[in-house]
Amino acid sequence: MKLSFEKSRPGRAFPVVPKPDVPERDIPASLKRTAPPRLPEMSPPDISRHYAQLARRTYGLSDGFYPLGSCTMKYNPKINDEMAALPGFTGVHPLQGEDTAQGCLELIARAESLLCEVTGMDAMTFQPAAGAHGEFTGVLLIKAYHDSRGDSSRNKIIVPDSAHGTNPATAAMTGCRVVNVPSDKDGGVSLEALRSAAGPDTAGLMLTNPNTLGLFDRNILEITKIIHEAGGLCYYDGANLNAIMGVARPGDMGFDVIHLNLHKTFSTPHGGGGPGAGAVGCRKLLEGYLPSPRVVRSGGRYAFDAPEHSVGQVSAFYGNFLVVVRALTYILTLGSDGLKDAAQNAVLNANYMMKRLSGMYDVAYPGTCMHEFVLSLENLKRETGISALDAAKALLDRGVHPPTMYFPLIVKEALMIEPTETESRETLDEAAEAFREIYELAWSDPESLHGAPRAASVGRPDEVTAARHPKLRYDFPQ
Ligand SMILES: *Cc1c(COP(=O)(O)O)cnc(C)c1O
Repeated sequence: MKLSFEKSRPGRAFPVVPKPDVPERDIPASLKRTAPPRLPEMSPPDISRHYAQLARRTYGLSDGFYPLGSCTMKYNPKINDEMAALPGFTGVHPLQGEDTAQGCLELIARAESLLCEVTGMDAMTFQPAAGAHGEFTGVLLIKAYHDSRGDSSRNKIIVPDSAHGTNPATAAMTGCRVVNVPSDKDGGVSLEALRSAAGPDTAGLMLTNPNTLGLFDRNILEITKIIHEAGGLCYYDGANLNAIMGVARPGDMGFDVIHLNLHKTFSTPHGGGGPGAGAVGCRKLLEGYLPSPRVVRSGGRYAFDAPEHSVGQVSAFYGNFLVVVRALTYILTLGSDGLKDAAQNAVLNANYMMKRLSGMYDVAYPGTCMHEFVLSLENLKRETGISALDAAKALLDRGVHPPTMYFPLIVKEALMIEPTETESRETLDEAAEAFREIYELAWSDPESLHGAPRAASVGRPDEVTAARHPKLRYDFPQ
């Protein structure tokens, strides 16, 4: 397929930016560009065809089953977008006076209080734009807390080896040292290792729960107790709260700070890296460090306020407001019973799928899983030569998006499957059938799988070269 730059012809462009209806300002010559940008010039029908062609070459939730573990690729109700498109929300300006935006401020305050109720936290910010960004913010709160007590030698963050990869990365970005603790044989945090890792230099623990094996840690109360007794604080990675929302609350388990991925659990779009929200909730003791500004209510009206010891701003204004509109729509549409149903169905679907596959594939940690589970194709690969990559690519030919591959790192030849609560039993059965077919071919005709996918527009790209030497710019002919 040709790039838009290759399809471009001089003079085909048409004006898309309307003439300004405000007075034009003089921009200093030194700031003005000297040549116009080299944008592709295409006619409206050609642009429309170009993007339709691109859309046909990709695979999204509206094409089929998308069990990408840990990413919660679930249906995003359209009503969320309808609400976010209301002119009262889209037309508001971030610098507008508080008195003219009371409804928007109230919306933020309501979303905050409902999500605090769901998580057992006391306060929340919507400023971080993604889960990892929320983690970074949360660790900053923990550091600010210790620093304010003159306890600045606490610079270590304990991260179990079953954590999401962003946990050690964000802890390191705040300047903390990361201490890894291994899992026990059941896939939970090894308490013995945790006890010896926790000490006077512990700033806190970051726990992904359910962890990346899809397991709820049975020792959760003991884990938070060990950290608190060592003087540290406990961070809950709640990106995948759809496993427990409405059923159990991180605040009740002893956690001090949490992030939620609104773009997973609360059905806002993942948006191709576009606007997201990693809401960060905390207990009272950390509230004074939250990013500024926060919405507060006083004297019957809402206003922006800067927390006394705020860690500062982590993004512009108060985050991606329209994402919060979508999340609140979802929460109010479902209600408290609905949120609980969603969690229970997410867990039911994952366990159903796990049982359907477990006669053929090895489940890394058998037992009851939460919202996802992990298969290991290590034995299958040894005996048939079919790897997790081969199986994942073969799924593409059968209309199923591959699961997350080779993660978590503690499982060899891993396939991490998260069906989500919005899939029907028929869809799960069809996908299980595709997995079965692949398993049988692994024994009868492995060669046919090494060549997969055959039906996709791209076969097996060289991922290492693509990552190490990305070609992100168009080389204009001289
Ligand atoms: C997705 C995810 C994250 C990171 O969220 P982003 O929005 O991608 O930055 C963190 N932790 C867990 C457990 C996740 O599943």
